[in-house]
Amino acid sequence: MVAALSAARGFKAAAYGGSVVILERNRVVGRKLAITGKGRANVTNARSKEEFVRAFGPSGRFLYPAFESFFSDDLVTMFAEAGLQLKTERGGRVFPITDKAQDVVQAFAQLLVRDGVDTLYSARVRSIDAGPGGWTIGLESGKPVRCRAIIVATGGMSYPGTGSTGDGYGLLEHMGHHTSPLLPGLVSLHCAEKWLGELAGTSLEGVAVEAWVGRKLLGRSHGEVMITDRGVGGPAVLSLSLAVVPALAEGQDVALHMDLRPELGVDREIHDMEACGNAEAVLAYVLKFLPKRMALQLMSVWGIEGKGRTPLPRKTLAAIAKSVKGVELRCTGTDPLASAIITHGGIVLQEVDPRSMGSKVVPGLFIAGELLDLQAVTGGYNLQAAFSTGFLAGRCAAEYVAKSANDGRL
Ligand SMILES: Cc1cc2nc3c(=O)[nH]c(=O)nc-3n(C[C@H](O)[C@H](O)[C@H](O)COP(=O)(O)OP(=O)(O)OC[C@H]3O[C@@H](n4cnc5c(N)ncnc54)[C@H](O)[C@@H]3O)c2cc1C
Repeated sequence: MVAALSAARGFKAAAYGGSVVILERNRVVGRKLAITGKGRANVTNARSKEEFVRAFGPSGRFLYPAFESFFSDDLVTMFAEAGLQLKTERGGRVFPITDKAQDVVQAFAQLLVRDGVDTLYSARVRSIDAGPGGWTIGLESGKPVRCRAIIVATGGMSYPGTGSTGDGYGLLEHMGHHTSPLLPGLVSLHCAEKWLGELAGTSLEGVAVEAWVGRKLLGRSHGEVMITDRGVGGPAVLSLSLAVVPALAEGQDVALHMDLRPELGVDREIHDMEACGNAEAVLAYVLKFLPKRMALQLMSVWGIEGKGRTPLPRKTLAAIAKSVKGVELRCTGTDPLASAIITHGGIVLQEVDPRSMGSKVVPGLFIAGELLDLQAVTGGYNLQAAFSTGFLAGRCAAEYVAKSANDGRL
């Protein structure tokens, strides 16, 4: 509901007059916002516009006008107006100082009341139709709503319990728009290696992960990796999944390389491992940088479990060192879209004007938020994009209504 809330504020900020109403299927405001950032709401990032655009990959440039209209500094000011201060943490991640996502939802609700924005709850939109003089919106229950411009910001398909069940794709396809393949985004990856299952719940810090298809590097990431009962997750893997998921969807064989000690070069790692000389010393050595469960599991994967102080051949020690620098995993799939953080894919960008979020297919129609085929790594980028595209869509919808009324089109 982030893009819709921001669109309503953009509409009001344009000050062309006219009224704006939000049609929300839920009975409450911000159900998804309330669970973001593990309940702390990583609402944006302190990094520059250029870094934001990079975080969205090849499509990022589409967002420049939206970031020009409403960016992270505007977000900080907006929440300050509602009495909520934000703070910046590691990696430029911005959170409410209260560490409570619910406070972000409350602050937003407060701003809407202050700005005189009406919200109709339990108002699930089932159809939108363009006609002379504007739009007719069919609701699941209740009388149709008529309006002069419409902003569709129904989100994606992850966490459908929050209301984002993908309704917007069908509504917009009905208007002539197209949707790119909808895949899980920022999602845990499943791996073939059964030994991982024994370590479910183990967290590895400061790991470098690379994804490869044959000799082609799909992407790399660094940070925390969480071992799950079916493979790997955690911030480093979630971000990498944006490159992995489309390749898996095309049936490609994706391999993951996990460097458990990226701060050391391979030669140095081999040197240190060779200096261990025996299994007992190898264990003591890896326990310096790996959790015990992982260290013990790797001892059995390396086949040196229980070998005590028996000297190990240099070749074996070198191979162990290389495996610390490159644990090989084969990707077999991902967690489902419903439990992904975002939807990878959406309304194709070529059909949307980045300067207004206006549809290039139907006049008076605007599209914002996660519904668009835009996805970024973790770190507050996705929420900021929803705020920014929403605000721009709202402002331009207000302009459209005012202009159309003046020249008699509406
Ligand atoms: C668990 C989780 C944690 C996350 N954490 C972060 C984070 O920390 N930082 C970050 O940047 N991003 C995070 N995200 C991603 C972020 O929440 C989304 O990108 C963002 O919410 C998208 O905003 P939106 O307004 O486009 O869609 P949504 O927030 O999904 O809102 C869409 C709204 O439309 C309503 N709706 C849907 N269909 C209809 C209909 N037919 N009629 C009427 N209303 C309808 C829904 O009820 C919902 O309120 C997280 C996502 C999840 C699932």
